[in-house]
This record gives sequence, C-alpha cells and structure tokens, in this order.
Amino acid sequence: MSDNRVWSYSATLMGSPILLKLFANNEALAARVFGLIKRYEDLLTVNRAHSQVMDINHAAGQHPVAVSRPVYELIKCAKAASMVQDSAFNLAIGPLVKLWRIGFKGDRVPPADEITARLRITHPQDVVLNDTDGSVFLTQPGMEIDLGAIAKGFIADRVRDYLHQQDVRDGLINLGGNVQTLGTPQGSWSIGLKKPFSSSDALVGSIDVVNKSVVTSGTYERYFEQDGKRWHHILDPRSGYPLDNELDSVTIISRDSLDGDIWTTLIFGLGVEKGCALLKQREDIEAIFVTKNRDIILSSQRQFRFTPCDDSYRITD
Ligand code: FAD
Ligand code: MG
Ligand code: MG
Repeated sequence: MSDNRVWSYSATLMGSPILLKLFANNEALAARVFGLIKRYEDLLTVNRAHSQVMDINHAAGQHPVAVSRPVYELIKCAKAASMVQDSAFNLAIGPLVKLWRIGFKGDRVPPADEITARLRITHPQDVVLNDTDGSVFLTQPGMEIDLGAIAKGFIADRVRDYLHQQDVRDGLINLGGNVQTLGTPQGSWSIGLKKPFSSSDALVGSIDVVNKSVVTSGTYERYFEQDGKRWHHILDPRSGYPLDNELDSVTIISRDSLDGDIWTTLIFGLGVEKGCALLKQREDIEAIFVTKNRDIILSSQRQFRFTPCDDSYRITD
C-alpha cells in the first residue's frame, strides 16, 4: 500500500545541493539516480581537467573532437539557443566565466582589456558541429564551451525520464535551482520561490505545478562584492560584464527543464517588457519575474498557481 509519506534523499553534485523526493523508501533507487547525475557531470563538467566538454575545449583551434550522442545533442541545442537574434545565452561564454571566476576562489573584477580580449573568442558561430560524426570544433584557440546554464536542466529531464522508466509516478528532483516534477501528490507539487538576497530561507511565494519543471535563475545565487557593487554569475555576452537590468530573478515554468534553463537566460537578457513579448509566442512556457523594485510579474497562470507570501512585494499579472 502506498501512502502520501515523502522520503527525501540528498547529495552534493555539480557543486550544488541535490534533492530527490519519492513516495517510497527506496535508497537503492536514489543511489541509481545520483549515479546517473554523476555520470552526466563527468561528461559535461568544465571544472576539472577532463570531461568530454573539456576534451573539445583543449582541442580549440586545433581539431574537431567526436563526443557521445547526448553530449553532441546538448551542445547542438545550446548552439541553437545562442544563435537566436539578440540572445543573451551563449554556449561559448567559457573564457569569460573562467576570467571572472564568480562563485569560485579568486573571483574579482577583471581588467577591462582582458574582458575585451576574451570577447573575441566567445562567438557561438565559431562552434562548428558535424552531425555525421558527432564532432565539435572550436575554430579559435582559447575558445571554451561552458554548459553551466543548461546542463542541469538537461540532466533534470534525464532523471525524470529514468524515474518514468522505473515506474515511479510521483516524485521531484531539485538540482540546485532546477526543479523537475512527476505526478500529482495531493493535487500538485508546491515549490518555494526564494526571496532575493534574504539571508534565511525566506520566500516571496510558492508555485503549484503538475508534471512541470520550475527553473529559477537569480542574481542572488552566486556573486561577490567589490567597489560597493554586486557582481553576479550571469554574464552579458555583448559586454562581458554581469547582466545589469531591473531583474533580481526569473523563474520559468515549462514541461522540460532544458527549456527552463534556456529561457531563464534568454529572458534575463531581455528584461521584463521584451521578455513578456517574446513569451507570447510560446504558450507552453511561462515566467515569473522578480524585480529589484519588489514587483512580481506573472506572464500568465495557465500552467501554475502562484501564492504570494511576502507583503512587501507587489503582484502584477
Ligand atoms: P544559471 O543562471 O542557469 O547559469 C549561470 C551559469 O551559466 C554561470 O555560472 C556560467 O557557468 C554560465 N553562464 C554565465 N553567463 C552565461 C551566458 N550569457 N550564456 C550561457 N551561459 C552562461 N560549481 C562548483 O562550485 N563546483 C563544481 O565543481 C561545479 N561543477 C559543475 C558541473 C556541472 C556539470 C554543472 C552543470 C555545474 C557545475 N557547477 C559547479 C555549478 C556551475 O559552476 C554554475 O554555478 C551553475 O551551473 C549555475 O547554474 P544556475 O542554474 O545556478 O545558474
Ligand atoms: Mg540554470
Ligand atoms: Mg539557478
């Protein structure tokens, strides 16, 4: 007999807290899920000397590198998102991410001339793909692919697919901000939306979803302070500096967490007005914007229900 008791399993992978929730006590399944995440981390990480992505990066300016199908397909998808007109998403942002080191030891504002020099080796069109042999070639020396803004979404979807295969109907996986849900325990899953820059676990509201992914990207997640200013980890590929607009965070509700990841970055680059306009073209994707002025803007509420819980924020539909 199943009941509504939830079992939670946690791990630290990809430098992030990982949480799995199941409706059965199944330690072995949790271990297999964490093993799956670990295998993808090993293929995709850029924080170690070796991975399939690092093999591509090491061969920049020299030769193409054939990679496994899932890695190739993810890179292809990341390149397509990067080539959208005015896209803030850029899979070739690696040299700038490594220069700033935000969230890692030694982060600091780099000299302007170093930023300018690295902007020359961050063009997504210089990532050359070959569908026939599944190879990737970075045409300029020093180029680096960084999938930090998309890999967690891709992996969250693989975990969902794996749980489906294992006949798990209800569950939740949270990969440090990428939440993917299965099923409808007690009607829906309720996911907290963090209050930006609050020291505690304070929330601005909660989001109720059924069979949806909820992805949040925020300026408050990874940042450092220098010269009286906060420098966060979502970089503007046009300027080489952290994106600076009215937003504290963007949350995307979608079926696939991969879309959530792409769209949080796209929308961050566009801001509220242009972001809402672009979302009108995609009925299957919805957003919650949290601004520095304490406005919460909901693109629409077809796929989720939002319950506010902080009076200092104003809600706009
Ligand atoms: P998002 O907003 O989704 O993405 C921000 C990240 O995307 C940045 O950190 C950068 O990596 C990249 N990025 C920045 N600007 C852009 C842009 N304009 N376009 C595209 N991408 C951009 N953290 C650790 O501390 N230690 C680790 O060992 C570690 N290993 C990891 C291994 C893997 C496979 C992955 C996916 C992540 C790992 N991380 C690790 C976390 C990583 O460094 C990022 O902090 C994390 O992916 C950010 O995800 P997010 O959803 O919070 O932010
Ligand atoms: Mg993300
Ligand atoms: Mg995040």
